Amino acid sequence: MEVAFLGSSSSGNSTLISSEDSMILIDAGLSSREMERRLEFLGYSSADIDAIVLTHEHSDHCKGAGIFARKFDIPVRANPPTFAMSPIGNVRFEEFITQEEFCIGNFRMMAFPIPHNAVEPVCFSITDGNHRIGFATDLGRITKLVNNVLFDKDLLIIEANHDEAMLRNGSYPEFLKKNISSSNGHLSNRQTALAVSELVTERTQGVFLVHLSEENNTPEKAEHEVKSIMARKLKSTKVRAAERYRVTEPVSLI
Ligand SMILES: [Zn+2]
Ligand SMILES: [Zn+2]
Repeated sequence: MEVAFLGSSSSGNSTLISSEDSMILIDAGLSSREMERRLEFLGYSSADIDAIVLTHEHSDHCKGAGIFARKFDIPVRANPPTFAMSPIGNVRFEEFITQEEFCIGNFRMMAFPIPHNAVEPVCFSITDGNHRIGFATDLGRITKLVNNVLFDKDLLIIEANHDEAMLRNGSYPEFLKKNISSSNGHLSNRQTALAVSELVTERTQGVFLVHLSEENNTPEKAEHEVKSIMARKLKSTKVRAAERYRVTEPVSLI
């Protein structure tokens, strides 16, 4: 399995997960044209995408889904409440039910509920039968269920949205600061670091930190906070923040 991030911030999220037989985008929050351009940059053709899979309906996750799906006749997969709330128009919709397994090509996937201010937001576990990936973005806290879903994966993809001090001292209005740091908002670097230290095992090849805030975080701060906790545990696991505004170099699981 190979993973590449087309973009990862509140200005647009989209993650490519591919294997020899199958290719999916998790979220499509960049413009269709930008996703096409970035896939091409990676050497992929947009027409080869098997499905767009949505985590939730916020526009930084589904803004480009409609145009992209119509242009390349690609199905959009989401749970019905998320699809109903997503402003993506008329597309080939294929539902999945949260907490029921579904398949796309040779990927087996399952969605699980996460706490976030959306209608039915989910995280995912994804496997090709060989490797296992845990994917969780936009969540206010790590529940017991999320902890179970993300534990012991080959690759862990998890939000590290903000540095707590930067958010506290930053220019956002008070209500927004409250929303972001609430249990239905976004994970801070500290929350993510504590979670990651519990979630990684000998199996875990890498951890990608995603959805870093533009105003309230830096890749250095996010990586540092997680690595400093990890250093006490598994030195061999690589930790890296995904690029916010451009393609992140793909990683292949071995
Ligand atoms: Zn988001
Ligand atoms: Zn969101």
